[in-house]
Amino acid sequence: MPSRNPTIKFTKLFINNEFVNAVSGKTFPTINPTNGKKIIDISEADKPDVDRAVCAAREAFKLGSTWRTMDASARGSLMNKFASLIERDLEYLASLETLDNGKPYTDSLFDIKCAIDVFRYYAGWCDKIHGHTIPVDGNFMTMTRKEPIGVVGAIIPWNYPILMMSWKLGPALATGCTMLLKPAEQTPLTALYLAALIKEAGFPPGVVNVLPGYGPTAGAAIASHCDINKVAFTGSTEVGKLIATAAGNSNLKRVSLELGGKSPLVIFDDCDLDEAVEIAHNAIFANHGQNCCAGSRTFVQEGIYDRFVKKAKDMAMARRVGDPFEEGTTQGPQIDETQFKKILDLIESGKREGAKLECGGSPAAEVGYFIKPTVFSNVSDKMRIAREEIFGPVQQIIKFRTLEEVIARANDTQYGLAAGIVTNNLDRALTFAQSVQAGSMWVNCYDIVIPQAPFGGFKRSGYGRELGEDSLKEYLEVKTITIKVPQKNS
Ligand code: NAP
Ligand code: MG
Repeated sequence: MPSRNPTIKFTKLFINNEFVNAVSGKTFPTINPTNGKKIIDISEADKPDVDRAVCAAREAFKLGSTWRTMDASARGSLMNKFASLIERDLEYLASLETLDNGKPYTDSLFDIKCAIDVFRYYAGWCDKIHGHTIPVDGNFMTMTRKEPIGVVGAIIPWNYPILMMSWKLGPALATGCTMLLKPAEQTPLTALYLAALIKEAGFPPGVVNVLPGYGPTAGAAIASHCDINKVAFTGSTEVGKLIATAAGNSNLKRVSLELGGKSPLVIFDDCDLDEAVEIAHNAIFANHGQNCCAGSRTFVQEGIYDRFVKKAKDMAMARRVGDPFEEGTTQGPQIDETQFKKILDLIESGKREGAKLECGGSPAAEVGYFIKPTVFSNVSDKMRIAREEIFGPVQQIIKFRTLEEVIARANDTQYGLAAGIVTNNLDRALTFAQSVQAGSMWVNCYDIVIPQAPFGGFKRSGYGRELGEDSLKEYLEVKTITIKVPQKNS
């Protein structure tokens, strides 16, 4: 059963397996988005705390340390133990996530189960990471070793706090790296609780450190630190550029970036209309639209356009917006006042630029950051709502005629995170899948993100991949060892 007031046990920085105050002694409030009120004060990390955490992570990564000498299979066992502890505390963690983030309790449960799957998936990889023996020219035997890259700094957003943590922590631990992680300022609570579970599972001190704080201070200190080997970032394209610049200006640390999107979902008139409306609805409204791969440009073929718009509007209006702890709620508040205002501003721009507001378009409550599910029709490609990432519950329905035309329009964006097509025509689906520049392509489904399959962006949606085997590469260095072999006599 969900608790609306879960006891908050951890509010300090987690460094070297201890909860400690920030060097400055400063704290910052974490806010409940359902009412805009403070939940609790959290220790605020800044550069000196990042330095301390890097020292701890570096010490844990030293050759000969407990972590570096641990059998890879034992590392896998620790990860599985950690996953089981999360499972043990699933309901508590889901309450904490919903309190801090505002997403429906059932969504929190779902996210955490997905995170558990991610940890278990990567636990299985620990003792399966190996190099090659290569038949090189000459009298040599050459082999490669895959070695952990070192100390990793992870900077994550607020939209899927626990899940984003698992996407970074899973491959980092599986490869034998050590890590410091900065959760988003809006959602530090579950990251700190997971830190306590890291200790309980038995990870050596310094392997995982958690530093709540602000982006321009703690986040920037991570990005420019000269003793961090890699930064794994998820968030906006704007901040992604700052991270890449800071990495280049400091020690050329490796960077992986999972950034925003303006993903097209294309519906052809040969589809099952009700099914297509539902796929498109979930593609944009899941997680209140706060989803990097949200299907935020719904292209609908002209023959079914009007009927599609009517059904999409009915479905949006049937969403239950309100208390995220109440059973049946499908949409809680947006994360904070900044996002709330940004979304309302984009909605106003849509009205001004001539899109037709079918429903919603305004706040859904007097207090808290609730926004009515919003549907726009008659959207054209140049409008801000068709170009900018809204990150809110706002659907743009755009008309198209032909496959060729819609491929060009789908690609006419700076982003390339995801795309989808709904059609019964296989040739059409394959042509679309090959022609659209996006890291994830969904045919007759959307937002299927699974631990085994890589996820990441083309173009300004970032670089590097998370999940699957591909993510491991982001946390590994390849070392080539060549040994001279005596010439054979016979
Ligand atoms: P953001 O600023 O990019 O935040 C993501 C993370 O980066 C947070 O931990 C943030 O810290 C940190 N950060 C901010 N400035 C930094 C800096 N100068 N150096 C290092 N780290 C820094 O995103 P946002 O402001 O929360 O949201 C803005 C927009 O970004 C959204 O409207 C949406 O379009 C997009 N977004 C995309 C994703 C995604 O999944 N790809 C997720 C979230 C947001 P703070 O917590 O202190 O800000
Ligand atoms: Mg920010």
